[in-house]
Amino acid sequence: MNEHTQGPWRNEEQSVYGEGDSYIGYLEDFSDEDARRVVACVNACSDINIDVLERPAQLGKTIQGYFEKRLEMRSEIATLKAQRDDLRIHCDGWEKQYRVLESSFFALKEQRDELLSVLNKLRIDHYQCEDGYYSCPKSGDCPNSNPNDDCNCGADDHNAVIDATIAKATT
Ligand SMILES: [Zn+2]
Repeated sequence: MNEHTQGPWRNEEQSVYGEGDSYIGYLEDFSDEDARRVVACVNACSDINIDVLERPAQLGKTIQGYFEKRLEMRSEIATLKAQRDDLRIHCDGWEKQYRVLESSFFALKEQRDELLSVLNKLRIDHYQCEDGYYSCPKSGDCPNSNPNDDCNCGADDHNAVIDATIAKATT
């Protein structure tokens, strides 16, 4: 057997029982007090490796020191667990906030894209009149216009405002 019987152990008139009330054996030559002590020591040292128990000097401490160290470690573990639980609560909170922000972000992006699509439809063409003489020089329909003539129908100014607005919303 590689492992001793798991605890807690129990002594009943030198009959010793282990985990799940399994019978370990009878400490025939032991007094009841000695059997009691053996069982108490096994239970007290249940989570200490047997190699350490046999050579406490390896730690440079006595068994008493080992117990003190174990208590310190237990306290440290409890503190670390509390910090972990606290962090978990914070992480849950941050994750919820992130989800809310993410959902707001996508809603706003959708609204922006809808507005951009409407803005794009609001662009106008240069004025074209049946009598081409009155058409905007940049309409391509004005017979007496020069290539360098400016728009006189307001389309360029109007479209420039739309372009500037779109540029602002997409940078
Ligand atoms: Zn024009």
